[in-house]
Amino acid sequence: MSSGPPSGSSDQTRLIHAGSHPQPLSRTVGPPVQKGSTVLLPDAASLYDEDSCVTYGRAGLAAQNALKAALAAMEGAVGVSLYPSGLSAISGALLAVLRAGDEVLVVDSIYKPVRRFCDEVLARFGVAVTYYDPLQPPADLVSGASPSTRLILMESPGSLTFEVQDVSQIAELARARGILTAIDNTWGAGFLFRPLEHGVDLSLQALTKYVGGHSDVFMGSAAARDPALVRKLDDGVHHLGWSVSGEDAYLMLRGLRTLPTRLAAQGAAGLEVAAWLKGQPEVLEVLHPALPGAQGHELWARDYKGACGLFGFTLRPAPQAAVDGFLDALQVFGLGFSWGGFESLAIWCDPQLRRRSFARDLRGPLMRLHIGLEAPEDLIADLRRGLDAYAALLP
Ligand SMILES: *Cc1c(COP(=O)(O)O)cnc(C)c1O
Repeated sequence: MSSGPPSGSSDQTRLIHAGSHPQPLSRTVGPPVQKGSTVLLPDAASLYDEDSCVTYGRAGLAAQNALKAALAAMEGAVGVSLYPSGLSAISGALLAVLRAGDEVLVVDSIYKPVRRFCDEVLARFGVAVTYYDPLQPPADLVSGASPSTRLILMESPGSLTFEVQDVSQIAELARARGILTAIDNTWGAGFLFRPLEHGVDLSLQALTKYVGGHSDVFMGSAAARDPALVRKLDDGVHHLGWSVSGEDAYLMLRGLRTLPTRLAAQGAAGLEVAAWLKGQPEVLEVLHPALPGAQGHELWARDYKGACGLFGFTLRPAPQAAVDGFLDALQVFGLGFSWGGFESLAIWCDPQLRRRSFARDLRGPLMRLHIGLEAPEDLIADLRRGLDAYAALLP
């Protein structure tokens, strides 16, 4: 093994190796952030010994391994794979388990870019994609599966419309028929809801949202308990050549430490704002599973240990200028996609619903709020400002 250039080497050679053999690292609270494509191996026999050595940095080094271990502990998983975004975690998990000739049942309220992947990529590779109504009873869903159905992909609560599915019943019925189940659990953040404990095979999430928590890093994860599935996910990441940086993994792990505290604060503030909205004359319906009386509330109460700060509401019908007027009057809420950070955000959702097959009539424009860590009373005052602007343009 090389232990640095021999004495008498030229200045040029000494410069290439100087400082590259540091003392063993001091222990810090977080993992070291290693930057490395090349991994130096201890001896010649290790070069091809992939079972006991990491031989190339793409697989991840100290910070990525620390993040995987922490996520596995949170999810109750045997293994976790990391992906460069939430979307690639979902596309990667699908590619890891599906093959040409398979059918996948996908909930109609799936995150829209996942739908695009299913329609434009999976379909091209011979996988049949069938969308199902998130409110379809689990027994009907699973009995409607065909002999080629390989996977059911859920998202609960659904993107934008927040339908809650009976995830454990779907998982149980699917398992009895040899069908795999996967869920986009970004709303539950791997903490409020633990899919693997409810019998789901693949727990997926955009870490970009709540785990990161600061709206500045992209990453996704896929967690599983069955060692054969863990292996498939790992192989899938390897085949596609995906990699996440040590810095980003470090930031995700830092976010994970405060995830429960942020979720508790943002969930409580979200519920306070949702309850207030429910009493406003311009508001038709609040779509928030933790709000008593809302669609999915009983299932949420059965399965979740809290709520995050993301929910929707509909407004009495008004011209588009009123919708724009509402958003443009907001001074505390930012207008932006994504969510899970420390800041409050608002969007209008209707353009994202157009490709759905089972969209129910919401009777008015659909708005989505993400509640951040500002004081709830300031958020409520801001929303009142927006609603005043809206009301001024109501017919
Ligand atoms: C944002 C989001 C994703 C995708 O995450 P990215 O990191 O932005 O690719 C997937 N699912 C849901 C529900 C999301 O909100």
